[in-house]
Amino acid sequence: MTMNDTGMESTPKRKKLQKIGIFTSGGDAPGMNAAIRAVTRAALANKLKVVGIRRGYQGMIEGDFISLKSSDVSGILQTGGTMLKTARSAEFRTPEGREKAYQQLKKAEIDAVVVIGGDGSFTGALVLSQEYDVQFVGIPGTIDNDMYGTDYTIGYDTALNTVVEAVDKIKDTARSHGRIFFVEVMGREAGLLALNSGIACGAEVILIPESNEQHDALKKFISKGYKNKETSGIVMVAEGDEAGGALKIAEQVRKDHPDLDVRVSILGHIQRGGRPTARDRVNATKMGVAAIDALLDDQKSIMIGLDNEKIVHVPFNKAVKMNHSIDTNLLDIQKLLNI
Ligand code: ATP
Repeated sequence: MTMNDTGMESTPKRKKLQKIGIFTSGGDAPGMNAAIRAVTRAALANKLKVVGIRRGYQGMIEGDFISLKSSDVSGILQTGGTMLKTARSAEFRTPEGREKAYQQLKKAEIDAVVVIGGDGSFTGALVLSQEYDVQFVGIPGTIDNDMYGTDYTIGYDTALNTVVEAVDKIKDTARSHGRIFFVEVMGREAGLLALNSGIACGAEVILIPESNEQHDALKKFISKGYKNKETSGIVMVAEGDEAGGALKIAEQVRKDHPDLDVRVSILGHIQRGGRPTARDRVNATKMGVAAIDALLDDQKSIMIGLDNEKIVHVPFNKAVKMNHSIDTNLLDIQKLLNI
């Protein structure tokens, strides 16, 4: 508290926002570039200077900064990956690393920062803002769609469509040869991608970390459905399923049923890349503009989320500590339809 002219106590005013930083961190996701473009242009429209921090927290520690003009973000809306590059930084997890990062922000006169990433990236921002006076606002960018407080994370829609396209192709072979394909999709701790792509592809069984009921469904499908109907099958497996990945589960099925033609397809990194869908571009743009609005409103340590298509602010500490629940109704629907 300080005394003002009238002798009354007043809270010192924050320095007016002049320059913001923006970076992407953790795994890349399609649509991150659309968010970078929206943040940069919304900031410039509000007379703010914009600094791109390259390679996530590692670039922040090393002062790998570039100034961004409107033309620097043209032509990126439709591209996958991230023009600012991304990284995972072990050094930032140490107090020494974070002090270096803070000193670099101070030296570059960056008043506030927009971070685009997942819960690890927001945890890093929270820790830094608790140690030093740095204003952070986050935009959720991860193909897992596993952040608490938002219906949507940037990249999820594109990844979902990539998986659906790939599985449609695998299904052609499965049907032609009468095979069972175990298709593994990304999602170490979250099965939303496997669940929704499984529904969209009409998978016979969907194995996700949030539910172990489906392992009985797999047994049932193999012993009753597959053997009797002599047809093909798709089993979607989230990489984080507790029974192990698709390779391990398929190996067990092969051992138990040597007569079956069982194959595995691990979709891997194709799920992260590619041109973002229209939905990812629109949402990334909305969220990018909302992030600048939030910073101008003096908000800090919040994630921009979408709740029923409306922008919401979710405190970092909630977004990173709580889990995104899965719509188990979708599993019931999937079971109901697989008669
Ligand atoms: P994805 O969902 O794609 O994995 P993410 O943002 O969760 O994205 P992480 O690798 O978990 O990705 O985190 C990104 C970076 O954030 C880490 O490399 C690290 O530098 C920083 N970070 C994560 N957790 C912490 C922490 N507890 N303290 C300090 N920094 C952290």
